[in-house]
Order: sequence, then structure tokens, then C-alpha cells
Amino acid sequence: MNDLHAALTEAGITAVTDGDILAAHSMDHARLVPPGRAVALVKARSTEEVSAVLRVAGRLGVPVVPQGARTGLAGSATAVDGAILLDVSPMDAILTIDPIDRIAVCQPGVPNAAISRAAAEHGLRYAPDPGSWETSTIGGNIATAAGGMCCVKYGVTAEYVLGLEVVTASGEVMRCGRRTAKGVAGYDLVRLFCGSEGTLGVITEATVKLSPIPAERLTLAAVFDTTAAAGRAVTAIMASGAQPSLLELIDGVHLRALEELRPMGLPTDAAALLLVAADADPEAELVAIEGLCEGAGATEVYRATDATEADALLESRRSAYHAMERLGTVLVDDVAVPRSKLAEALDGVAAAAERHGVVIGVIAHAGDGNLHPNIVVHPEDPASVAAGKAAFDEILEMTLAMGGTITGEHGVGMLKRDWLAKEVDPVNLAVQRRIKEALDPQGILNPGKVLAD
Ligand SMILES: Cc1cc2nc3c(=O)[nH]c(=O)nc-3n(C[C@H](O)[C@H](O)[C@H](O)COP(=O)(O)OP(=O)(O)OC[C@H]3O[C@@H](n4cnc5c(N)ncnc54)[C@H](O)[C@@H]3O)c2cc1C
Repeated sequence: MNDLHAALTEAGITAVTDGDILAAHSMDHARLVPPGRAVALVKARSTEEVSAVLRVAGRLGVPVVPQGARTGLAGSATAVDGAILLDVSPMDAILTIDPIDRIAVCQPGVPNAAISRAAAEHGLRYAPDPGSWETSTIGGNIATAAGGMCCVKYGVTAEYVLGLEVVTASGEVMRCGRRTAKGVAGYDLVRLFCGSEGTLGVITEATVKLSPIPAERLTLAAVFDTTAAAGRAVTAIMASGAQPSLLELIDGVHLRALEELRPMGLPTDAAALLLVAADADPEAELVAIEGLCEGAGATEVYRATDATEADALLESRRSAYHAMERLGTVLVDDVAVPRSKLAEALDGVAAAAERHGVVIGVIAHAGDGNLHPNIVVHPEDPASVAAGKAAFDEILEMTLAMGGTITGEHGVGMLKRDWLAKEVDPVNLAVQRRIKEALDPQGILNPGKVLAD
């Protein structure tokens, strides 16, 4: 450890070693993933500093855990034993907003929402909008290939990343991708780094696509007395060819928790509420969607009267996770099923909750078939944790049996690394290991994440 601190100091790097500070930086939001003991925290301010840290780490064989805002939900930014925590959030400058090329060039620590705020003066925005958009960083969003609310129409992070600057495990600085609208020179390394969870390189700059802010948006809420009926409404909406710009499901458990957190008149006796927005020909689109919701059994459908009410509904959706945290420790699951199986999946989650005697609330980016069953456990009661984990496993099994995926947007991290081999075939897994070995032969970058040992 002394060798490490001496080497970092010699390289001009200031490292924090205070135990309390290290502990405070050792976890993301995956509360049940136990962190290892980190030995140093470096708050990097430049690409050169990131490079210097990786060179020292490589020489001494020390693991490095890249970190953004630590809002991750899969334990991918969680400390491992003996690691340097490499926090790149201080690199938070927006370097360029170019309204002609419709791009933003950002350092990795820029919070997601800050990009849209900066682009707004040109009538542009950065579309992918995870619930954590005010805090999570663009580097973390790219490294987790984050999704969000408007992705049902506008697509996920990977579709918006044009170019990257990456520091490799050896400390070399590489540029990949482009800033042009098109380009196919060589292998698509940008896409490789999307969702790589800090295991292949450290992103130190990103060039992302901007798109016009939609002119007008109208929002409706549809109330259902079963989650399966809400699921059927989603299937009907997507089958109709409609293109909602938002299609979110909030179940009864979340509605009640949200109303407890901040009363706003949500229907607490409902089984589920669908929040739907349209922004192309919004009046005509919403009239059609209202009909489809009623046809699927909605007991009530109402329009947000104005933008303020629409924003309040959306804000309550964004607060769903925090509302659930008041009930206990939340084991957040994240699975995606074919949209046609959404109703079946919702029934399956309810059955798992009943079988294991745990409270599970579901919020979903429903239009993407992406469910977040939020399982409430009480860590002081081992039986509750065991029951929660059993339900978690059952939901993953069910998802794979439906042809779905173990993670729609949060990533594998430590939480699901043992599940990857159940989803992908052995050849795929072997190729993934070879990619890791090629880019990080010593295995110093975020070891124990994504791929099981
Ligand atoms: C309230 C709440 C709502 C959320 N809503 C959503 C949602 O709607 N959609 C969604 O997809 N996620 C959501 N998340 C999860 C989380 O916000 C995302 O995974 C986000 O992308 C993580 O960004 P971060 O900056 O916090 O990264 P961190 O949590 O710090 O890191 C995440 C991973 O990225 C790696 N990493 C971070 N920065 C870099 C870098 N510069 N270079 C290389 N690797 C790096 C880390 O090593 C780690 O593997 C939510 C989380 C919370 C708490």
C-alpha cells in the first residue's frame, strides 16, 4: 500500500486514504452488494491524471474501479479489495455544443440533464433521460448503456454516442468513433465501450448526438384495476403503430408509496397507472391511445390539464425508487421481456411476491417491455433478505424462459454476473472473455464486474 501511495505521489497524483471517505465512496445504489476495501480514492481532473493512475496501477498490479456519480443499481461502481477508486465526476466540463453538427462534446462527469440544459438555447436536447438524469454522469450513462423514459420513441444511450476518448488499461489514450453524422471506418469500438461498465477502459470524453426538442407534448394517465390489464393496454398501443414519446407503468405499491412521500391525488386503490405522452401529432395520437386503454379495461383515463400537471406526473414517476426506499432496503431488479409478454411478466412478478412473502412493487418503461420489480427487504432480518433474493432469482428465471434479458438498462455489475452465462451461449461468453483479455490483459479494470471469475 505504501508503494502505491509513493508511486501515485511520484506521478503527481493526489490520493485520499481516509477510511471513512473511502467507505463513503465504496458503494453505488445496489445496497445489498457488499463492497470490498478500497485503498485509495483519486478524484481525477484530466485525461492525463486518469492515464497516470492507470500506468501506476498497471505497474503495481492494483485494481481500478472507475466511478461517476455512483447512482448505478447493479454494483458495478462498488469497490473491490485493494482498489483505487477512480472518480471522474470532477471532469464535468461541456466542451462544445454545435447546433449545426447537432453534437455535444463533454467530459465524462457532466450530469445527463446538464447537456440538455446547455443545448436548449439552440432548441436541442440530449434525448436519453434516465430517472437519475440530474445526478448520473454521461460517462456512467455510456458505461452502463443507460435507458430512460423517452427511450420508447427516441432510443437508448448507445444510439446517441458518436465518438469517445478512452484511456486504456495500459494508460494509453485512444480516440474512437467520429463527430460526423455518418462513418464506418473500422470496427465499432464506440459501441463496444457502451455498456462495458468500466471493465475495458475509462471514458474521458464523449461526443453525443443532440436532437430537436419536440414542439408540444400531451400527457394522459390511465387507471387499471389489474396490472395485467395495463400490460394488455401497452401491447395494444404498440401493436397499433402509435409512437408514444413516453409509456411508463406505475403499479399500486408504488402509487401508495408515492402518495405517502408527496400527496398529489394519485389513485392509491388502483392496481396500476399508465403514464403516456405523445409529441408528434399529440392530440390525434392521444385520442387513439385513450381508446386503446379503455378497450383494455382502463377504469379511468384523464388528461394532464397543462404542462405543469404533466411535469408533476412525470416527476412522481422519477421519485418512485426513493418512495420505495421508505419501505425498507430495495433490491432493484431490471429485466426486459418481449413487449407481447408484458402482461404475463407482470402476473409472474406478482406470483413470485406471493410465493416468497415479500413486497414487490413494479415500475416499468412499459413500452420497452423493461420492468423494474423493486423488492423490499429488511437487512436486519436474514429471512427477509433470503426471501427477497429467492424472488429476484425467480423473476430472472421467468424472464429468460420468456425470451427476455436479465438486464434491460442497469447492467450486470456484481449483482448479476453469475446470470450472464445463463443468458448468453458459451461461445459468446468466450468471445467476451477474449475481448476483456485483449484490452485489459492484467485484469486491473473493475475486476469481478460483468464476467464472473
Ligand atoms: C433514482 C434512480 C433512477 C434511475 N433511473 C434509471 C433509468 O431510468 N435508466 C437507467 O438506465 N438507469 C437508471 N438508474 C441507474 C443509474 O443512474 C445509471 O446506471 C447511470 O447510468 C449510472 O451513472 P453514474 O454516473 O452514476 O455511474 P456509476 O454508478 O458511478 O458507474 C456505473 C458504471 O459505469 C462505470 N463508469 C462510470 N464512469 C465511467 C467512465 N467515465 N469510464 C468508464 N466507466 C465508467 C463504473 O465503473 C460502473 O461500472 C437510476 C438510478 C437511480 C438511483
